[in-house]
Amino acid sequence: MSALFENAVTSIRLGIEDFETGEDDRMISAARNYYAGVLLLAKECLVRAAPVADPLHVIGAKVKPVSDGAGGVNIAVVGWKTVDFQEMKGRFKDFGLKWPEGDFDKLRKLRNEAEHHHLTQPVEALAEAIASSFPMVVDFFDILEEDPKEELGDAWDVILEKRTAYEKVQKRCLSELASINWPKQVTGIDRMICDNCGSSLVGQEDPTNKNPENFNAKCAQCGEVHSSEASIAMAVVASFGADDYIAAKEGLEPVIHDCPYCDSSNTFVQNSEVNMCFDCGFVLDESCSICGTSLTLEEYTMLDNGYCGSCSYGMARAMRD
Ligand SMILES: [Zn+2]
Ligand SMILES: [Zn+2]
Ligand SMILES: [Zn+2]
Repeated sequence: MSALFENAVTSIRLGIEDFETGEDDRMISAARNYYAGVLLLAKECLVRAAPVADPLHVIGAKVKPVSDGAGGVNIAVVGWKTVDFQEMKGRFKDFGLKWPEGDFDKLRKLRNEAEHHHLTQPVEALAEAIASSFPMVVDFFDILEEDPKEELGDAWDVILEKRTAYEKVQKRCLSELASINWPKQVTGIDRMICDNCGSSLVGQEDPTNKNPENFNAKCAQCGEVHSSEASIAMAVVASFGADDYIAAKEGLEPVIHDCPYCDSSNTFVQNSEVNMCFDCGFVLDESCSICGTSLTLEEYTMLDNGYCGSCSYGMARAMRD
């Protein structure tokens, strides 16, 4: 067994042992060890994919070509830093390995929080991070053709148990949310994130409620019941946040806005299909009184003259000339 693999297994075992004590002050070391262990497993996958290469060449963060003095180059590793999580994803692709499904972000955030000693909901948060990263651990062991139960022993049972418990709560939350009749179709409601603790285990306080106006999201992790305004915004961000992020990156108009009518934050959605506030139901259907094109939210609120941007510009020019 390679030292890297042995370290990976030991770190995960130690992390789970700390986790199992349930004591908040052991959670920092639990998060740190478990995180390190999963990262080491991923590195072992890369190293085994290139068995004759120098492992440092495979997982070194920085490599550079150096002349071999005979007209060729050698690859040299610069420093001792090894690839971080983001770089690892890229290297899996370069090595023809499939990057596993599963959510590692929760664990990464938690590890960073732990380093700064302000863990929110330590035990529960770590339980969720373990559950979300479970599919990745399974896939890494698959790639390595190792048996996780044999290597991790009792720690494996704990991981399995957390996963099962998580899935049970997640199912309940999603069924609570399913009864709401949204004015327009929402997707990705399973990605709703609690504003208070970052958990994705969010349901609603009254599971029979169908009306978005009376929707009070309830976090199964920290117990927080959110106002309907905040709950609707959480659902809107889960559903349209990815589009909004892409629009921002491409310099386009945002998809998610604050509503000009009811002033709720992040409840107004404007894209090619939707043009309304999920909170108060305000629909923007004004069109330019000169050329007839539909007004964007920005034209409607910023110009406030009933004209679209280019007609406003034209009018201003005509007045000036
Ligand atoms: Zn919460
Ligand atoms: Zn509104
Ligand atoms: Zn116009």
